[in-house]
Amino acid sequence: VYILAIETSCDETAVSIICDGTEILANVVSSQIETHQRFGGVVPEVASRKHVESITWILQEALDKAKLHPSQLSAVAVTQGPGLVGALLVGMVAAKAFACAWGLPLIGVHHIAGHIYANALVHRLEYPFLSLVVSGGHTELVYVESEGHFRIIGQTRDDAAGEAYDKVARALKLPYPGGPHIDRLALESEEALTLPRAWLEPDSYDFSFSGLKSAVLSAMNSAAMKGQTLSAGAVARGFQDSVVEVLVEKALRAVKAYGAKQLLLAGGVAANKGLRSRLEARCAEAGVPLLAPPLPLCTDNAAMIGAAAFLKFRRGQFASLDLKADPQLKLEEWSV
Ligand code: ATP
Ligand code: MG
Ligand code: FE
Repeated sequence: VYILAIETSCDETAVSIICDGTEILANVVSSQIETHQRFGGVVPEVASRKHVESITWILQEALDKAKLHPSQLSAVAVTQGPGLVGALLVGMVAAKAFACAWGLPLIGVHHIAGHIYANALVHRLEYPFLSLVVSGGHTELVYVESEGHFRIIGQTRDDAAGEAYDKVARALKLPYPGGPHIDRLALESEEALTLPRAWLEPDSYDFSFSGLKSAVLSAMNSAAMKGQTLSAGAVARGFQDSVVEVLVEKALRAVKAYGAKQLLLAGGVAANKGLRSRLEARCAEAGVPLLAPPLPLCTDNAAMIGAAAFLKFRRGQFASLDLKADPQLKLEEWSV
C-alpha cells in the first residue's frame, strides 16, 4: 500500500510517500522559516502564497525520490486541520486534484493525529498509550485506548508550549522560531533564573504557560529598570526547567493513573533536548517505556500524515471530494 501524503497546515510545504503505514519512501519538507523570520512569526497570507509556489514541484520531487508513478499509488492523504485556513486549502486543493486525476481515494488527516502517529514510523505501538503532544499550537495529554481512538485528558488553558518558547525567545531577541535557540542556551547555562511552576489544581492534567511567560518578561523588565540585564542563558535555563518539569511530571502521573503501556512524545517541542533527557530519566526510573520520533519527524512533515492516514485506509474510511479544510478540526471527532 503506497500512500502519498500532503501537509500544508502552517509554514512547511511537505509531501511524503509511505509504504504500508510505516516505511518512508520519500519525505520532502520545504520550510518557509527564512521567509517569515523577518516578521518574527508566520504571516498567514504569505504562507498560503508560498505553499502555492512550492506544492507542485515538491509533489514531483517526492514521486521522483520514491521512484513511483502516480498509477502505482493506493491513496492520497492530506492534512484537513487544524491549522491556518488559507494554508490548509492549498494542500486540500492539490490533494483533490491529484486524487481526481489519478482516480485515487482521498483521506483527510488530523494534524495532531499525525504528530502522534509519527511514532508508528519508527516504533511498535502498544495500546493503551498516553501521548504528550507539545507543538507550536497545542499542548495536550492524549489517552489512546486503541488504534485511532483519542481522548484529550488535559490541555493548555492559554499558550501552547511552543508558543511560549517562541515568545520568550522573542523577548531575548533570538530568531524565529525560538524553541531550538532557548534549548541550546538552556543546556549551556550553569545558572537558572528562579521561576514559578504552573501545577494548577492537584488533580488537573491541564497546563498553563502564559503566567510563566509574564514572569520572564517582568523579571527582565525589573532588571532593566535597575540598569542591569539578565543573562540570556539564565533566563532560558529557568524557563526551560519550569516548562519541562511540569510537562514531565503531569505526563508521568497520567501514565500511572490511566495504566498506559507506553508514553509517546509528539509535536515540534518533542525535539527539545532538555525535555527528552528529563523524560528519559524519569521514565527509566518509573519503568515506563518512552517513545519519541527522531528529530526530523517531530516538527511538521508529511510522513506523519501518511502514517495516520494508514489507520483510515485499512478501515476503508475514505473522504469524498467535497472534504472541507477545517482550521478547528477536533482530534476526538477524527477518531477512526
Ligand atoms: P501545531 O502542530 O500545534 O499545529 P505547528 O505545526 O506550528 O503547531 P510544530 O511544527 O509541531 O508546530 O512545532 C513548531 C514549534 O516547535 C515551534 O514553536 C518551535 O519553536 C518548537 N520547537 C522546535 N524545536 C524545538 C526545541 N528544540 N525546543 C523547544 N521548542 C522547539
Ligand atoms: Mg512550522
Ligand atoms: Fe505541527
